[in-house]
Amino acid sequence: MLDKFKDECGVFGIFGHPEAANMTYLGLYALQHRGQESGGIAVSDGQLVRVSKAMGYVADAFDTETLAGLPGSRAIGHVRYSTAGSSQLSNAQPFLIDCAHGQIAIGHNGNLINAQELRDELVRRGSIFQSTSDTEVVLHLYARSRARTVEDAVVEAVSQGQGAFSFVLLTKDRLIAVRDPHGFRPLALGRLGDALVVCSETCAMDLIGATYVRDVEPGEVLVISTEGMKSIKPFGPAKLAHCVFEHVYFARPDSYVFVTSVNEVRTNLGRILAREQLVDADVVVPVPDSGVCAAMGFAEESGIPLRMGLIRNHYVGRTFIEPQAAIRHFGVRVKLNPVRSILDGRRVILIDDSIVRGTTSRKIVKMVRAAGAREVHVRISCPPTISPCFYGIDTPRRSELIAATHTLDEITKYLDADSVAYLSLEGLMNAVGATSGSYCSSCYTGRYPVEFPRDQTSYLQLALKLDKSEAVVK
Ligand code: SF4
Repeated sequence: MLDKFKDECGVFGIFGHPEAANMTYLGLYALQHRGQESGGIAVSDGQLVRVSKAMGYVADAFDTETLAGLPGSRAIGHVRYSTAGSSQLSNAQPFLIDCAHGQIAIGHNGNLINAQELRDELVRRGSIFQSTSDTEVVLHLYARSRARTVEDAVVEAVSQGQGAFSFVLLTKDRLIAVRDPHGFRPLALGRLGDALVVCSETCAMDLIGATYVRDVEPGEVLVISTEGMKSIKPFGPAKLAHCVFEHVYFARPDSYVFVTSVNEVRTNLGRILAREQLVDADVVVPVPDSGVCAAMGFAEESGIPLRMGLIRNHYVGRTFIEPQAAIRHFGVRVKLNPVRSILDGRRVILIDDSIVRGTTSRKIVKMVRAAGAREVHVRISCPPTISPCFYGIDTPRRSELIAATHTLDEITKYLDADSVAYLSLEGLMNAVGATSGSYCSSCYTGRYPVEFPRDQTSYLQLALKLDKSEAVVK
């Protein structure tokens, strides 16, 4: 409902725990913010891999009975928001197949930019696809591999993928974690007693009491079995391109991603924003929840008090019954409500993490003014978002991104704000600190770190809702 880039997916895996399905359920619960359309768990008892998937939230998708029907000490799980492929149960993951190499289940976070090309070739050679997901391509490549071992077949399959992928795969006796050589999406490794855990964000480890060990490295295929861990590096050298938007918005602030505290980076974004774009005001008000950390940093740096002038309703479901009578700002008011005692008569600095189309920001500014604010200054803790993402994030067309089509003055007028200002790209990179050279920032620059031929953009357009003219190829 809110005008944001949409989270992609979250993955989880555990090996060597007697309650593997229950632990995966909890891990997915902690990763729910990364995908709310469907959830799935695959388990292995050493003989058979079983899978259970359902649409909706993790808490609704699984009950005690379902989890009891998933025996075994090894499991993987997936929460999904559809980036490539439509929203239906056939696209829910993990996918499970049985082939000459035996059973294998897969969960994917990211987007393969050469999926259509690979798929066309596989279809020509007789493959029949059951979903529209790019992830299924990897399973077909695996099934067709003539490699003699499961590991070699996995390596052969994933080596053909290009773009963004953090995979978890499960066979009857192995858990395999794979990260693309650019490291677009996060994937961390942890330990829970004798069990090993992999997951998109460390908040999933916190919930089950696991300890962070290290990140699965970009370009690493990590094979976990009863014999221990084996690290394979099948990819050639590649420039690192961690998604900086994970820090700006996607990841939970209590997580570490790319070995860096999200809370620390987000607070830094606010501190630097205050140094770059300060204005005289009475209160700093975050747009909850995503603007809170940056607002704390802004308030700390500027000395202007932080006040929760907007309250978020956390219990908004996926659908609600709209009233027939017109209610002012109804759409946004369902989720956010202004606190008049904080806003009335005040000069307000409103902090948010991003503006995408501008439609929600406009409603929020109006709401804050209607609650009596004397001035409203919008401050955004990232640079203007001017380009779509090809690497696993659902973004609108370039023509719908307000910063791609409007000047700052026009945006200010559209939002009906007294002023609007963004963090600089340099400020963003300073906020992530020493690791700044290893990030993708294409949605702010339009320069893409992984090339894709023009003839593949038709798939990308379909999957990520782009116009042909909008694909910028570097
Ligand atoms: S384009 Fe933006 S959202 Fe996509 S991977 Fe790069 S930084 Fe992340």
